[in-house]
Amino acid sequence: MSKSCRICREAGRPDSELTSKAETYLYRESGLPNVVLVGVLVRRCPTCGHHEFVLPRVTELHRTITDAICASQAIMNGAEVRLSWTQDGWRLGDAAA
Ligand SMILES: [Zn+2]
Repeated sequence: MSKSCRICREAGRPDSELTSKAETYLYRESGLPNVVLVGVLVRRCPTCGHHEFVLPRVTELHRTITDAICASQAIMNGAEVRLSWTQDGWRLGDAAA
C-alpha cells in the first residue's frame, strides 16, 4: 500500500476503487519460487499498482503445499524446508523419518 495514494488509503471502505478479480497468481509470499495459485481473488489499485490477495484458508493452503512437497520424490531445498518448518505440528525430525 502506498501511503500517498488516495485509493490505497481508502481501501476497505465500501466505495473503494480497488478492482477485484480472480487471477492466476505466482505466490512468491510462500517463500517458494514456483507456487502458482489459480483463481485467487486479487485486489489491485489502478493508480499505484499495489495489490493484495485474499486467502481465506491460508493455513490449509500451506499444509497442502507442504504435503505436496513431502509427497514428491525430490530432496527438499532450503525454501521448502523453511515452509514445512512453519506448519503446525511439523518438526525437522519428521523429515528424517
Ligand atoms: Zn494505490
